[in-house]
Amino acid sequence: MGFKEEEDKIIVLKSGEIAPLWAKFRAEMIQSFPSPYRGGRDSLADGIDHAIRELNKLKPEKTGGAAFLGTNPGLTIDFENVKNSSLNAKMNSSSEVIKQVIKLFEGMPNWGHPLTMNNVNPQGNTAAIVAAILSEIFAPNILEGEYAWNIHQAELESGGILADLAGWEPKKSGCVYTYGGSGCWTYHLKYALTRVLPDSRYKGIRTDAKVICSQQAHYTMLNSTDWMGLGMDNILRIKTDIDSNAMDMGHLEEVLKDCSDNNIPVASVVCTMATTDANAFDPVKEVRILMDKYPNPIGYGKALLYCDSVIGWSWIAFKNYDFKLNPLGFSEAVLPYIEKNYNAIKGIFYADAFGVDFHKTGFSPYISSVFVYKNADEFESLLSRGASAYLQPRSPYNPLNYTLEVSRAATGSMVGWATLKFLGHEGFQSILGGILENKVYVKNQIATHSEMVCVNPSDYGLVTLLRIYPEGTDAGIQFKNELIDPAFREDLITYNKLTHAIGDKLFEWFRSGKKINGQCTPYLSFSTGFRTTEYNRDMKDTEAVIYAIKMFPMNVHITPEIMNHVLECIIAARNELC
Ligand SMILES: *Cc1c(COP(=O)(O)O)cnc(C)c1O
Repeated sequence: MGFKEEEDKIIVLKSGEIAPLWAKFRAEMIQSFPSPYRGGRDSLADGIDHAIRELNKLKPEKTGGAAFLGTNPGLTIDFENVKNSSLNAKMNSSSEVIKQVIKLFEGMPNWGHPLTMNNVNPQGNTAAIVAAILSEIFAPNILEGEYAWNIHQAELESGGILADLAGWEPKKSGCVYTYGGSGCWTYHLKYALTRVLPDSRYKGIRTDAKVICSQQAHYTMLNSTDWMGLGMDNILRIKTDIDSNAMDMGHLEEVLKDCSDNNIPVASVVCTMATTDANAFDPVKEVRILMDKYPNPIGYGKALLYCDSVIGWSWIAFKNYDFKLNPLGFSEAVLPYIEKNYNAIKGIFYADAFGVDFHKTGFSPYISSVFVYKNADEFESLLSRGASAYLQPRSPYNPLNYTLEVSRAATGSMVGWATLKFLGHEGFQSILGGILENKVYVKNQIATHSEMVCVNPSDYGLVTLLRIYPEGTDAGIQFKNELIDPAFREDLITYNKLTHAIGDKLFEWFRSGKKINGQCTPYLSFSTGFRTTEYNRDMKDTEAVIYAIKMFPMNVHITPEIMNHVLECIIAARNELC
């Protein structure tokens, strides 16, 4: 009986025997695995081609489309019930599954859309995306030579290129691609703890070594100190300058001296090399001098100097740029910005290691982060473990002996390497400088609107932060008062609330496909405290901080006309609220 029900699934072998069902399913399944041979139809090549064309249908029209994919702006996940799911009884066709996959992209932010300016979220470049896809097809595993073979060139050469940019000796340096800027932070901490507390790999961390970083440091310091077992309480925060947001060298010296006087070892000092909103760079050379002045107590290794440069790293591509001749023709207004960023980032030379996120200012897809270290012999031997019993060294390069991960996808290394090969110096220079051209343009436009003020005018980063007030307000005077005068604290809080409401309104408009002057509204975001007020330097008053609307014009499709439209949308949102 049951057999009959399955009748349509019977296949008859040449011998006349009926093949078992599993064999029939297996035969069908072949259509959904890539062919191991060239020529003929390849379900993978067809599938990718078809899938990308279908995905592209979710892109908006060139004129007037919103900055998200598809037409449905809402969240369609049924969060209450989504986990009440179970495995299908029957096999599906891969084309049907791909249809479902494409559906999940409905509503996703479109990172390449000129109206997308919400954060350091760049659109990935084509060379990097293709490199990533190819790495998924043949799946090199860069844990060791046998499974990576020549693909290892991507990681090895990336290390050389990045070390060379830092001014280090490429042959003596090295790198490991890992799981994000947070992974780089974790790598640095492990390196530091192993160097400073040599027993810790076997005995565990039994000493409260300190990790020193600034008040502006990224919150991933919590992840790393927590997961490494050092404990979050062992982070010491250094005050930052109220205007530049850079680490205060006077305070750093006090803290280092205090550690030294009390026999407390320092695992590492972390220089943050560009923060997301304030573009703060710490002075690495000065930090190095202070670290040399206050070495760790006898019995402990030398503290590590790490640059968390995952945002700021790519300014290093301006190495050797002739700022006088200005061969790429950047505007007079933009040149000093570039020069300042380059002069700040070149401090990575003094570090023991630095982090790079290609998925931020490398215009690449996730995850393509790389931890770069100056002394490969030291790093690789400090962290080395014995060889594995079931993997044989088939090449001179077997990083599994010292990496955090075991299997590592080649995707990140291929993405990073492809991007370095694609952009080169002039590509990085043009893309970064081009963002600044748009930024300076919008800053000048803001200055023509009396009720708007750019609140990070002296910051050289990629973001423009602005506040907008009710019509008739002189924004310049109002903001200055809010910044310096405690008597304006109530005003500050009122207009922080307005900024928040405008930010939410703009998000709602972006999501609902609202149009202003016939064009969709931008995808922006806002900061609930990119800096504090002058009278709140110790940050004790959690409300006396500055909120601002953020514009991060990261992608190459953005033009000055778009920047003007964005300002008009911000004004329209303000008009709705007051
Ligand atoms: C983004 C960022 C991180 C975290 O990096 P992920 O790639 O998101 O893991 C760490 N530090 C800084 C300064 C960052 O900007």
